[in-house]
Amino acid sequence: MTESYGNIKDTTLKEALEKPGFKKYWNIKKDEITKCKDCEFRHICTDCRAYRDDPDDIYSAPLKCGYDPYTGVWEEWSTNPLKQKAIDHYEMREILD
Ligand code: SF4
Repeated sequence: MTESYGNIKDTTLKEALEKPGFKKYWNIKKDEITKCKDCEFRHICTDCRAYRDDPDDIYSAPLKCGYDPYTGVWEEWSTNPLKQKAIDHYEMREILD
């Protein structure tokens, strides 16, 4: 994730929990996330706030989801043209290639 709350070598879990911003994703529900809120799998799907379609929007859909709930079609997420900007933002291209 882009945020850091310490290193396990020198930060206790209690200290990390007390750092500002540590809990900012805790209360986000799938029903609040763009695209996921309209998806039939939202109540069984796990979530990832680390990589999002829009890195600047904490309510953006998980980047690594290739499902389109509006068409019911699954496709490879990493080749979706709409996700390329976020892939570059997270510097994931080397991992994907
Ligand atoms: S399958 Fe994709 S769109 Fe549906 S809830 Fe999960 S992450 Fe969201």
